[in-house]
Amino acid sequence: MNSMAFCTKQTLSCLSNPYSINYQYIPQGENTPICCATHLVEILFFITSLLEEHEIPYFIYWGTLLGAIRHQGLIPWDYDLDIGILEEDYEKLKSLQSMINQQGYWFSDCASGCGIILNEICRVFYSKVNDLHLDIYIWKKQDDLLICEGEKLAISEVFPLQKYKFYDRYLFGPNQINSLLNYYGADVLDYGKKQYWGSKGLTQISSEFKITNKAPAKIDFNQNFNENNPLTIDQWVQQNIMALQLRMKFKVNHLWSDSVKLGRKFLPFSLRNCFWEYIGHRMYRYIRNRL
Ligand SMILES: [Zn+2]
Repeated sequence: MNSMAFCTKQTLSCLSNPYSINYQYIPQGENTPICCATHLVEILFFITSLLEEHEIPYFIYWGTLLGAIRHQGLIPWDYDLDIGILEEDYEKLKSLQSMINQQGYWFSDCASGCGIILNEICRVFYSKVNDLHLDIYIWKKQDDLLICEGEKLAISEVFPLQKYKFYDRYLFGPNQINSLLNYYGADVLDYGKKQYWGSKGLTQISSEFKITNKAPAKIDFNQNFNENNPLTIDQWVQQNIMALQLRMKFKVNHLWSDSVKLGRKFLPFSLRNCFWEYIGHRMYRYIRNRL
């Protein structure tokens, strides 16, 4: 049995772990594995519910919004999530950090995380180890515009927010989608593109293909990927050491997509931390089972 069939909170994501049997899914143009898709949707639902609960307006954007419009869920080959909030709510968002981390996710604020581009993005990782993530874009108000990462949206295009169906839920998104459709191209509702790693290791985009099945990425919340596939400590150490070595090797060869490579920089991944966290988790389970 290959215990790396699914990624979990204790492993790297399938995209990043060369020892996952799903590792090749992007180069081979395959759809997102069910574990990754389920984890992504789990992060999205957790964060959007939390924001709603704390009255922080958010709107799904980029591929996440496109997924909502085109598939009523996650794009079947997507591997990250994007939402936006207003800059005026940034401190409020940061105050939720410990609550997010307590649930096993990992919040990386703009100062540490979004250093990636222009200090305008925060990230919520699936766990300290698993690098699947949701990007939170912090949009600045300037006159009648919202600005983030050099992109501009008219405030009137975003607000008042609208609800979009996403699997069995409704998430907030912008009032209008003209800019999004302009950005992706007029026929984006019927034609898709996939990102992949080309021969030079740089992120490349496939040519367009007609989308014949508009069902969203397959997810399964009933399957507990973390509980059903526990690794033995030996397996875990072995896989993570090998993954780490390979990761370093690939990094030199620029085989990582930019976002994964940059994600590494601020993900507090250290083998030692992961190891002790894993031991702690196993001890907890062991003791719990005995009570
Ligand atoms: Zn996975």
